Amino acid sequence: MARNVPIAPPTERASDTATGLVFDIKRYAVHDGPGIRTTVFLKGCSLRCVWCHNPEAIAHGPEVFFYPDRCIACGSCVEACPTGAQTLADDGHRTFDRSTCDLSLQCVDVCNSNALMLAGKQLTVDEVMDEVREDATFYRVSGGGVTLSGGEPLLQNEFATALLNACNAEGFHTSLDSCGQVPWSFYERALPYVDLVLYDLKHIHADSHKEFTGASNRRIIQNLRKLNERGTPVEIRMLIVPTVNDSEEQVGQAAEFLAGMDNITAVRLLAYHSMAVSKYTSLGKDSTMPDVESPDTDAMAKVAEWVRGYGLTVITPSDDA
Ligand code: SF4
Ligand code: SF4
Repeated sequence: MARNVPIAPPTERASDTATGLVFDIKRYAVHDGPGIRTTVFLKGCSLRCVWCHNPEAIAHGPEVFFYPDRCIACGSCVEACPTGAQTLADDGHRTFDRSTCDLSLQCVDVCNSNALMLAGKQLTVDEVMDEVREDATFYRVSGGGVTLSGGEPLLQNEFATALLNACNAEGFHTSLDSCGQVPWSFYERALPYVDLVLYDLKHIHADSHKEFTGASNRRIIQNLRKLNERGTPVEIRMLIVPTVNDSEEQVGQAAEFLAGMDNITAVRLLAYHSMAVSKYTSLGKDSTMPDVESPDTDAMAKVAEWVRGYGLTVITPSDDA
């Protein structure tokens, strides 16, 4: 795909020492834009989707995962913790009292069995670039590049913009995976360095959107219209959650709205699954994930047909298999 902006020369790059809170860097990603990619996940989100499969993405600060099944009861974390949040009973039972945790993270540093793990690390643009540069050959051969995801990556606006700028300056294709729930000014700043926006459309009805994500879709729809006016290529992502947004009426209205735009490269359908429930437990949170089965291949094919009926290009999980 042709770039929609000229590549900025390295001398114009924004601060490479800007830091951001990153909770994962996934190499060899193949569903986050074209080709083989590295996806950088930024912490903090402006929505609270009940089906969120990255609960560690939501909070804006670092968090600690605790996996009791990996714990070998060595007691190192108990000794290291300055607040007594980590305890070990005589019978080997380990507890983690998050209410007294001050996030000083000594426990994570001393746990060698990965029973305690950090979600969210401050990294500079240069540190992230050192990692994404490792796969530059794969990007060039496959037409891939770097994707910023989250959470909502644009909430860390300075860092996200600087990172996109740095990728752009090195000739890496850039994708921005966004939920749309940010001020338009955040997009204006970052978009000169973005080749493709991956944009979530969770529910076309404002009330239902608010019920399941915590916010109306008003700003999300407005921003999508502005992306269209600007001519920014957008791949729509629709997570299909049975009983929530899988009706023909909801899907049809969403597709009809999207068909009125010129910048939609494709609609990617994703199938809900509840595998992330254990992540909530590991973060000390109650799961909010709907207790419904994943939509099967036939159900996804039906949704795909409804969307194709509006002349849109559709990508389903079967296409990726
Ligand atoms: S983060 Fe710090 S205060 Fe919290 S449990 Fe770990 S060591 Fe203790
Ligand atoms: S340091 Fe890790 S393995 Fe050792 S007791 Fe703490 S959580 Fe368990």
